[in-house]
Amino acid sequence: MDQNTPLTPAFPSRLPEVGTTVFTVMSALATKHQAINLGQGFPDFPCDLGLISQVNEAMLADHNQYPPMTGVSELRQGVAQKISALYCHQYDHDTEITITAGGTQGIMTAILSCVSPGDEVVIIEPAYDSYRPSIKLAGGKTIAVSLIANRDGDGSVNFYSIPWDDLEKAINPKTRLIIINTPHNPTGMVWQTSDLDRLWNLVSHTDALILSDEVYEHMVYDGCSHQSIASHPELAARSFLISSFGKTYHVTGWKVGYVAAPTVMSKEFRKVHQFNVFTVNTPMQYGLASYLKNAEHYLSLPAFYQAKRDYFIQGLEQTDFKLLPTPATYFQCVNYTSLNILQAKMNEADFCSWLTTEIGVAAIPVSAFYSKPVESGVIRFCFAKKEATLSSALERLQTLNKRN
Ligand code: GLN
Repeated sequence: MDQNTPLTPAFPSRLPEVGTTVFTVMSALATKHQAINLGQGFPDFPCDLGLISQVNEAMLADHNQYPPMTGVSELRQGVAQKISALYCHQYDHDTEITITAGGTQGIMTAILSCVSPGDEVVIIEPAYDSYRPSIKLAGGKTIAVSLIANRDGDGSVNFYSIPWDDLEKAINPKTRLIIINTPHNPTGMVWQTSDLDRLWNLVSHTDALILSDEVYEHMVYDGCSHQSIASHPELAARSFLISSFGKTYHVTGWKVGYVAAPTVMSKEFRKVHQFNVFTVNTPMQYGLASYLKNAEHYLSLPAFYQAKRDYFIQGLEQTDFKLLPTPATYFQCVNYTSLNILQAKMNEADFCSWLTTEIGVAAIPVSAFYSKPVESGVIRFCFAKKEATLSSALERLQTLNKRN
């Protein structure tokens, strides 16, 4: 190096154990190898043109300057009405609902607003990969418990359930926050009313707060329903509820979500939010506020995605993958150790790389949702795709049967 090249001073990482998120890595690998991307969770079909027109109208009506810090009032009112209609809890749109730049920002801001150095935060793994680094940046300590992986006779994971005993052991006077995620990414597991009651039993005598990540709230199938934390009055009084318009309206790139929480919690949330993003793009908020008025736009989602899930499952049934149940979300988990190929012995990350580069279908290793190496032979496919995309992916996956 040239002696005169200016040097950057030593830059010790605040997150030395963190690399680039698996979703970005797998999407980049899919692009590089022109693979069909069933990895990162996002739709490959367009959003409703009606929604785009409503955003355009907002832009033409000159809604192009800063909106209120907490979000456009019409949108906050719409969110409050939706939650009240679906989950029977009335949030005050002025003091209890804040529009965020997507779910992930809402999660980090909520964590920064309540976790102090030394506080413990309980998460349930497999868990979305943003939780742990956000807790660390707040100075908190992550206490991870694992979902119980229930296995078939042949040892392959079949379904997951909540580890109540471990949760009970993990909660102590240092517990500041417990993060739950229902419907659950990546397993599709859904909390029932009795689960919320049980959680309440665990926390009622403590000061622990709850963060409930419900970004897949409108994707629950087979006639089942989502039980929001908002539907449990005692829990709602100590919870941040996080959701995302990107997931609900097929616009993940717009990065708009919201956080609902009691006034005292929202007040602290907003102190951080105002210096983090300050506010979220204005025309999108107006567009979403108009679009949200028609409940059909979210009430139709279960049927819409259930048809995609069923189509995908039918195709996967022609393969040797073992399918895990998918009661919710737009993710299908499969066990690949049942495949009669040498690669069935690979670890999940290597298998996903191989599947992307050699078979041309990208998936996400479920091991990426754990902090400690956990290998269950399970990978996640996203089925929020056009039928043509799913059909091409299935054709490729079906070739796995014939190998060896
Ligand atoms: N939640 C999305 C997923 O699980 C990814 C979001 C992201 O890439 N940050 O695929």
